[in-house]
Amino acid sequence: MQHFYINCDRLHKLYFMKKLTYLTFSLLSVFSFAQEVSKERIQTVLSTLASDEMKGREIGTAENENAANYIAKLFKENNLEYCTGNSYLVPFTYKGKTAYNVCGIKKGKTDKYLGFSGHFDHIGTSNNSKDNIYNGADDDASGITTLVGIADYFKNKDPKFSMVFIAFNGEEKGMLGSKAISTDKNLDKIYSNLTALFNFEMVATESAFGRNALFMTGDEFSDLDELFNLNAVNDLKINPDPYAAQQLFYRSDNVSFVKKKIIAHSFSTVDMTKASHYHNESDDINIVDFDNLTQIINNFGKTVEKLSPENFSPKYNNSVKF
Ligand SMILES: [Zn+2]
Repeated sequence: MQHFYINCDRLHKLYFMKKLTYLTFSLLSVFSFAQEVSKERIQTVLSTLASDEMKGREIGTAENENAANYIAKLFKENNLEYCTGNSYLVPFTYKGKTAYNVCGIKKGKTDKYLGFSGHFDHIGTSNNSKDNIYNGADDDASGITTLVGIADYFKNKDPKFSMVFIAFNGEEKGMLGSKAISTDKNLDKIYSNLTALFNFEMVATESAFGRNALFMTGDEFSDLDELFNLNAVNDLKINPDPYAAQQLFYRSDNVSFVKKKIIAHSFSTVDMTKASHYHNESDDINIVDFDNLTQIINNFGKTVEKLSPENFSPKYNNSVKF
């Protein structure tokens, strides 16, 4: 009888060990799965922002406010903290009414911040009888999806840099939201520690440099691209701006922060020689390359995970005009 009990006990132990191993492996797979942002998540976020219900997200409309609230909901899902006050929505005045930027924070191991931004407003509707909605899937639901994706990526991580995520409003009416929030005194504590701002503008398509690649506006003004590429994971590449003559560096929301002498560039994949959808009703989700976008977002997250105030401290050179 005694013998039997020992055997039984051993069997039990063996079974327990097997179970434990199984449990460990499934936990590991859950964890590695959690590290990757899924294509389905990217599709959900981008398609919601670019849906016909959002009616082109023009500033001053109810749909623009719906978009702001949707982004706030996504920030909450990622356990981000408020940038200021008791809401992700940071108000400013537009034509005598209140409009909102959306801002959230992820605290890292240090007080130094990296910023990730894009603009969620677009140009509303048109009189086109076939399709009267400017869905703005590329411009700039793709940019907002990218910053939300990066927040997703870091949800259960403890990065070295703290991070601030800002969805600007009113870009299409003259960068109104970024002008307002960049001069909001309540955020000075963040701005004085902001190492660099990555502003995403139109990242829905494959770039002229191929897949898994972006270009950076004003690349000649700082060493951000060099420092980033040194740490880049899975061959993600930031390329020089092929459209430098168009001065895109001075024409997007990053410029509101350049004025504060903060390192701030825009990152894009748009191929200007092919982008017939630019400010057209055809800027719809069917032009989005979700495989490429998902790859870029995950590789961006993995690269940012390697960055620290020690290996990433980009500087402007003398050629930039503040
Ligand atoms: Zn636009």
